[in-house]
Amino acid sequence: MLAHKAEEEGVFVAELIANQKPHIDYNLVPGVVYTWPEVAAVGKTEQELKESNVAFKVGQFPIRALGRARASMDIQGLIKIISDASTDEVLGVHMIAPRAADLIMEAVVAMEYRASAEDIARICHPHPTYSEAVKEAALAATESRPLHI
Ligand SMILES: Cc1cc2nc3c(=O)[nH]c(=O)nc-3n(C[C@H](O)[C@H](O)[C@H](O)COP(=O)(O)OP(=O)(O)OC[C@H]3O[C@@H](n4cnc5c(N)ncnc54)[C@H](O)[C@@H]3O)c2cc1C
Repeated sequence: MLAHKAEEEGVFVAELIANQKPHIDYNLVPGVVYTWPEVAAVGKTEQELKESNVAFKVGQFPIRALGRARASMDIQGLIKIISDASTDEVLGVHMIAPRAADLIMEAVVAMEYRASAEDIARICHPHPTYSEAVKEAALAATESRPLHI
C-alpha cells in the first residue's frame, strides 16, 4: 500500500520486459505515515531482529533536544537507529519526527550502501536542521555519545 513501492515494481516489470536487470530490495522500501509529526521507518524492527536471533544495539535521540525543532516549536518525537551488535551495520531506522518522510531517506541511502551507525555519526550534518537528529541517534547507537543529551 505504498505508491513508491508500486512505482518501483512498475519499473521492474518494464525493465524485465526490456531484458534489463531490474533490482528491488523490499527491505529498503521506506514506510511513511503522513500524520504530524510524521512517522517513517526502513529495515528491521527490534521485534523482527529478536525473532531472528540477531544481536543488535539501539541508539535513540529525542526531537525535543534538537535545536532546529526547538526553534520551530515542533518538539514531539524521536529517532531510533538499530545496528548490528558486532558489525555496527545499520539494520533499521525508525522515526516519529517533523519531516520524517524526508529524513528517512538518509537512512535508506546509508542502508543501501550498508553503512554502519559510526559511518552516519562521522558525517557532517548542517546546523540547525532536523537531519542532525539522525546523526545524534547514530552517535547514541555507537558508545552512547550523543552531543545534546
Ligand atoms: C486515498 C488513498 C491515498 C493514498 N495515499 C498514499 C500516499 O500518500 N503515499 C503512498 O505511498 N501511497 C498512498 N496510497 C496507496 C497507493 O496509491 C497504492 O499503493 C498504489 O497506487 C498502488 O499502485 P498499483 O499500481 O499497484 O495499483 P493501482 O494504482 O490501484 O492501479 C491499478 C490499476 O489497474 C486498473 N485495473 C483494475 N482492474 C483492472 C482490469 N480488470 N482491467 C484493466 N485495468 C484494471 C485500475 O483501474 C488501476 O488503474 C494511497 C491510496 C489511497 C486509496
